[in-house]
Amino acid sequence: MRGTVYKSTGSWYTVKSDEGAFYECRIKGKFRIKGIKSTNPVAVGDHVIFDLEKIGDETVGIISEIEERKNYIIRKSVKLSKQTHIIAANLDQVFLLITLNNPTTFTSFIDRFLVTAEAYDIPVVLLFNKMDVYDEDEMVEVDYLIDLYREIGYHCIQIAAKEGVNVDQVKELMIGKISMFSGHSGVGKSTLVNALEAGLELKTAEISEQHLQGLHTTTFAEMYDLSFDARIIDTPGIKGFGIVDMEKDEIGGYFPEFFELKAQCKFNNCLHLDEPKCAIKAALEEEKISWSRYRSYVQMVTGEDEVYRER
Ligand code: GDP
Ligand code: ZN
Repeated sequence: MRGTVYKSTGSWYTVKSDEGAFYECRIKGKFRIKGIKSTNPVAVGDHVIFDLEKIGDETVGIISEIEERKNYIIRKSVKLSKQTHIIAANLDQVFLLITLNNPTTFTSFIDRFLVTAEAYDIPVVLLFNKMDVYDEDEMVEVDYLIDLYREIGYHCIQIAAKEGVNVDQVKELMIGKISMFSGHSGVGKSTLVNALEAGLELKTAEISEQHLQGLHTTTFAEMYDLSFDARIIDTPGIKGFGIVDMEKDEIGGYFPEFFELKAQCKFNNCLHLDEPKCAIKAALEEEKISWSRYRSYVQMVTGEDEVYRER
């Protein structure tokens, strides 16, 4: 039988078969898995092949194979920095909720998130939430950000989750897909999920970041079916995506607006910092690339905050 993993406790996996029935499954013995090494061989979202076996009075599923993952998100254990945990696999999209204040979402955070998502190969939709509370100046800022990110190619929607404004647009994008919601604590993830499906509560919001430190092996993602042919993956205690190891010269590859220009840099290993005849820097001067995006890029490449001084 074939199915999808909805929940995992580390040794047991709840699998929904393609026919729609849920089975408790285990892995028997060891089997090799293609791809990365992780502390958990099977993750929520994985498509698996399993057989039913009778153990005593119980029927359990035995997983024998994991299908190749379209993508996956990982978390690295803080203490055991070499160990990788796969949080979830086969995501169709991630919604990043953004608010200008309470809490403030900085562009550096948005850009880091987008780069990570590009690296993971997961499409992102930017949701500007709490549109009901912004004053005129803040509206101008939201418009500016939306113009900026739309220009690069990201889908942006203005919503007010609490009042249900534009929640139907989010719903529409979710149909037939597996989605995840991300963003700082307090941006409105739980409120949005509740507006999408009354009664559904995210565990994501309940666990603080500090708490997470002690929980690195005990938090597990879980998938939920919504009533409108959509699925979401809830990731308790996981705020973002976890860190991806990236080489310096890889980062520029995850800024879509750099793609075409990069080829015109004098050096093909140009990091677009202080190299001569850099097409990215030229585009920046001509305001074809935004300063805030470039600043985020420099921060990621150098690992420092104030390296680049604005002229
Ligand atoms: P989470 O931590 O991301 O799950 O955020 P919550 O859903 O718990 O929301 C945090 C706070 O923001 C709550 O007090 C919500 O009522 C409030 N909130 C969420 N969405 C909106 C919105 O669209 N407008 C306003 N004014 N408040 C909102
Ligand atoms: Zn360059």
